[in-house]
Amino acid sequence: MKLHQQRTCIGCRTSTDRKELIRWVLNDDAPPRAVLLDVHSNASGRGAWTHENEKCVRQAVQRRAFARAFRAPVDDATVLAQFTAREDRPGASRLSGNHDESGSEI
Ligand SMILES: [Zn+2]
Repeated sequence: MKLHQQRTCIGCRTSTDRKELIRWVLNDDAPPRAVLLDVHSNASGRGAWTHENEKCVRQAVQRRAFARAFRAPVDDATVLAQFTAREDRPGASRLSGNHDESGSEI
């Protein structure tokens, strides 16, 4: 039975249900292979997992855990930025279209 697949967060190294984690994959296009957030958790190839919190993501970068997980030299410079951008999306998207400030400027 594979109903409860366990994965290990490469930041804090806690093993948990994969639903609790976000997945990272390698960009295969360029030689310095960049670590990319796998938004839908279904990209092919080897994946690395972290909790959905900045502390674990940061810890993974600091420990070079991505390189270890992928068994290759990786470019993880944008990992934290990707995670932060991902966090910003849901709430911030509504505010961006708000040009309708009906200020009574004369
Ligand atoms: Zn963690």
